[in-house]
Amino acid sequence: MKIALIAHDEKKDDLINFFLEHQDVFSEHELFATGTTGRRLMKTSGLSIHCFQSGPLGGDQEIGASIARGEMDLIFFFRDPLTAQPHEPDVSALVRLCDVYSVPLATNIGTGTILVEGLKRGDFDQLHGKRPTYGNH
Ligand code: PGA
Repeated sequence: MKIALIAHDEKKDDLINFFLEHQDVFSEHELFATGTTGRRLMKTSGLSIHCFQSGPLGGDQEIGASIARGEMDLIFFFRDPLTAQPHEPDVSALVRLCDVYSVPLATNIGTGTILVEGLKRGDFDQLHGKRPTYGNH
């Protein structure tokens, strides 16, 4: 499975701790991240992660484009709901594309835990490589 990880600055520690807690599960998959999140995850876990640009510099849009191409299976995007983000339009676009293409998305630890449990059970295996079609669009 191709999994993308993103965390706003105030949520990076949460995502890193969450990732380390479930490292055995994540290590079995192909991992992607926005720049700063990815570099911190690699440094603390030692795992290899493909890093896109930093989120505010286009990383969210790069992950969105991967979703549109059918190249992402699961997204962990721990958003900071209390701080205005300069790239809010990019954040909204990424979340929207998850809905357009029915890609499971966790925006906090609660849902993240459920998605990891699902990953362990193979709940998403039947979604792999499949995505909704939209007629002539
Ligand atoms: P970052 O981007 O991992 O480069 O900090 C995250 C974001 O703010 O979208």
